[in-house]
Amino acid sequence: MFRGFVLRATYTYKVLISSLVLKQQILNHQSLPAMQYGLNGHKESQHHKYMRQALILAKTAYDDNEVPVGALIVKDNQIVGKGYNQTEMLNDPTAHAEMIAISSACSTLDSKYLTDCTLYVTLEPCPMCAGALVWSKIKRIVFGAMDPNAGSCGTLFNIAANKKLNSSAEVIHGIMETECSELLKKFFKERRL
Ligand SMILES: [Zn+2]
Repeated sequence: MFRGFVLRATYTYKVLISSLVLKQQILNHQSLPAMQYGLNGHKESQHHKYMRQALILAKTAYDDNEVPVGALIVKDNQIVGKGYNQTEMLNDPTAHAEMIAISSACSTLDSKYLTDCTLYVTLEPCPMCAGALVWSKIKRIVFGAMDPNAGSCGTLFNIAANKKLNSSAEVIHGIMETECSELLKKFFKERRL
């Protein structure tokens, strides 16, 4: 029980520190241009630029032996929240990348709503995360790999764009899909050996 408390406190501290750093970056106007040159020298879209950064977060999860999923939230061309899957480290099934990114963004923006924000996540959100994203009133969800087992932004369920709920989000999928799914496949293949 004590270990759980310490881990949760550490997690909250990390989210707060991450938000403070993001706030400082926003104050310093460290926004990125709408288009930039990728590693291959070609111009890449805004969606690719942020998905590439979400993939770096997923790789951090991979290095920590967590299912490699990374997420970040952008408002006005600024990153306001980020997270990666930490369910093993925290012994917490709710510690998905998106949930952590939502908490981080709300803290950065001092708001319980993420109106006019876009979430970038390497794997299609599950029912829990899609539900939380609806409650956050986020404007747009961009994801990489589809999830046939739990995807709730169009694959298995469509919670995010369900007009019966009091809020819905625009969904864009398939951004860097191959890179995002290859990392997940690599992780699960290694676990099966
Ligand atoms: Zn989830």
